[in-house]
Amino acid sequence: MAKQIQCVDCALHYEVLMVKTQCGPGLEIDRCQRCGGIWLDRDEMGRIAELGSFYIQYLDQPGEAEPEKNPDRKCPHCRKELVMQKEEKLGGVELDHCPKCGGVWCDHGELKAINAAME
Ligand SMILES: [Zn+2]
Ligand SMILES: [Zn+2]
Repeated sequence: MAKQIQCVDCALHYEVLMVKTQCGPGLEIDRCQRCGGIWLDRDEMGRIAELGSFYIQYLDQPGEAEPEKNPDRKCPHCRKELVMQKEEKLGGVELDHCPKCGGVWCDHGELKAINAAME
């Protein structure tokens, strides 16, 4: 079983662990219940397109609290600083990437923006 990871944003002030959310066949995605942020491993990012709107709407919901914008965002796996990158293929949505493992941090609402750009 994969170990639980801490939320990229909420880790600033709180010990918040991401919760695995079942998302289609064989896919579990880490989501923060507090801020609604979503962490995608590199292979999960590629599969988001397969999921379609239903699961995107289901996954990308507001959290219980306003997101804390962590100015010092680090990868929950490698602790590397995340790099902001514009996704031209995904309608110019800006996402935080981990330069080491290729994981991506999506604030609440960003996944929906990606989905809208792909349709
Ligand atoms: Zn969070
Ligand atoms: Zn990483």
